[in-house]
Amino acid sequence: MSDKKPKKAAAEGGAIHCKVKGCKANPSKFEFCQEHFDQFKFGLINKQGEPCLDFEKKEEQYQHWKSAKKKSA
Ligand SMILES: [Zn+2]
Repeated sequence: MSDKKPKKAAAEGGAIHCKVKGCKANPSKFEFCQEHFDQFKFGLINKQGEPCLDFEKKEEQYQHWKSAKKKSA
């Protein structure tokens, strides 16, 4: 058994951008930008940055939650 590590790992491990596909924002937490971290917390996307099965349903709730958050801030 050998446990050679692929050379690419280093390049892929250090995220420069938010890990959500197509998002170029700087990562803030857990390799997500602020916006996508909120979406991750809310359960809209999984930790791979992929949308959940009920993304559309949850997105509506998320928008409500976000506007409520804005008001209180
Ligand atoms: Zn993002």
